[in-house]
Amino acid sequence: MRILVVEDEPTLAAQLAEGIKSVGYVVDVAHNGVDGHFMGETQPYDAIVLDIGLPQMDGITVLKKWRASGRTLPVLILTARDTWREKVAGIDAGADDYLTKPFHMEELLARLRALIRRAGGHASTEFVCGPLTLDTRSSRASVDGTALTLTSHEYRVLAYLMHHPGEIVSRAELTEHIYAQDFDRDSNTVEVFIARLRKKLPPGLIETVRGLGYRLNKAQ
Ligand code: CA
Repeated sequence: MRILVVEDEPTLAAQLAEGIKSVGYVVDVAHNGVDGHFMGETQPYDAIVLDIGLPQMDGITVLKKWRASGRTLPVLILTARDTWREKVAGIDAGADDYLTKPFHMEELLARLRALIRRAGGHASTEFVCGPLTLDTRSSRASVDGTALTLTSHEYRVLAYLMHHPGEIVSRAELTEHIYAQDFDRDSNTVEVFIARLRKKLPPGLIETVRGLGYRLNKAQ
């Protein structure tokens, strides 16, 4: 899962990036509204954390522009204390949730998980596919109750597939959702991660759909 953080305050932006990375997501950060708007418009994020008070273009305008161009991804807005009007404007502009500063990182992460989960139509924090379970709260996967030891990349690939069970996911799509923007990407490495995951998972769980990509086999 790949998250965009749009926050102009450097310390808070760094804390947000660190907190979000710690639960197995990858993060891009924009420090003003114009960059944030462009990144959200052009990159396939799974969710966005958007500050309202931003230089160059305020958060409400950024959000309105994304929604006007048909971007439906979940957006959590950050508002200053005692600014109920900002919250109302934000929700009316298309925000899915909001947090008031200062907030606890744990609460932000829980809300982010909930948004991503709901966007994919999942009701629970635990995703189950046959013998495989992904606990999005602890960022751990297990098979028949036995925890898997996964590298961060393997976890990201598996988590993305678990969020899209039964769907064909191309290598390009996986690449876009497991690396941050500044990372030197190579879609061939996705194949390597898939091969490693298969060795740790029951046979047949990750199918190759020739010429199209991979699919998590729901029928297992
Ligand atoms: Ca701000």
